[in-house]
Amino acid sequence: MAPGSVHVRTIDGDELVLGIESGVFVDSDVARPEMDLRHLVATCGLADSHAHIGATSVGEMVTGEVAAKSVMDLNLEAQLNAGVLLVADKGARDPSTLDALLRDEAERPELHMAGRIIATPGGYYEGFAIEVDGPALPEAVEEACRGPATWIKLIGDWPRRGIGAVPNYIEDELRSAVAVAHSNDCRVAIHTAAPETPSMAVAAGVDSIEHGLFLTRDDLKELGRRGGAWVPTVVAMEGLAAQLKEGSSGRRLINDGLANVASILGGAPEAGVAVLAGTDLHLAHGDVGVEVAGLNRYGLSVTDAQAAATESAFRYFGSPRKLAAGAPADLVCFPSNPLAGLAVLGRPSFIMRRGRVIHR
Ligand SMILES: [Zn+2]
Repeated sequence: MAPGSVHVRTIDGDELVLGIESGVFVDSDVARPEMDLRHLVATCGLADSHAHIGATSVGEMVTGEVAAKSVMDLNLEAQLNAGVLLVADKGARDPSTLDALLRDEAERPELHMAGRIIATPGGYYEGFAIEVDGPALPEAVEEACRGPATWIKLIGDWPRRGIGAVPNYIEDELRSAVAVAHSNDCRVAIHTAAPETPSMAVAAGVDSIEHGLFLTRDDLKELGRRGGAWVPTVVAMEGLAAQLKEGSSGRRLINDGLANVASILGGAPEAGVAVLAGTDLHLAHGDVGVEVAGLNRYGLSVTDAQAAATESAFRYFGSPRKLAAGAPADLVCFPSNPLAGLAVLGRPSFIMRRGRVIHR
């Protein structure tokens, strides 16, 4: 169903009437809008900036046991049904996840996608990634940019038996990868959990730091100066720590990293960093609100935490939204103001994507 006009109340308390034509908001002067949603708080929807739509769990992603297509369709639906209208997919085992881009835009969230993940041989789950050593990295990035992907996802470090997490690439190799990606209109995201990798990645010009457990305040300044992004995925990292053996070096590393995140996260937006919320398969598709609460728990203000799954993400992905004529008719309404209680982000009352009502 596609209504012709809606009457909404924004998060600032303003009431407005919006017409809807061909999936876009238009000016409207109708006396009685078709749908009165003023009892709810209207937003432009949620954004998940680190998801993997080709799988529903880490285990499933690693084994690749389930056919990507049907799983992917269900995951996209789960995101939409939770009011998540923008999803950044941070890479897959199977490049066919990129077929999601072929779906009608009203039938899926806006997508920003990496294709197959790139790592060194031995530098990720076995047989998962495009495996290349540093010298061959630029060529692999160039090749990956030729398809429909707009992101390149690198695995920056990975644990080795008896040594712990070590970087997969050196700074110069990362710098070359970034240069090739940028000259092909792609951006680069990097998985980092080891202590040395985030600083190296920031110095090399990587666009988005995933996890980034050991970023420093200086890194944040440099990343913020060029408008870079950080997707801490704190709930996923807590989940990972809980899976590791108590007293193990891996668990200690993650917990030390999370303590570091807690000490620097609150100041990151002020440094200019786009701090973004991501579910990363530890949370269900659609549950990005749980990560928002997690970011708040780790020191991000309520306003910045909410922005991590809304405005900051839309702006970072070059898709700023507004409830105004000319904008895509995307609308997600909550029973109360999220800034008065973030938990409501998990309970949208009304969802519309490109003028199509998904849930009311
Ligand atoms: Zn991930």
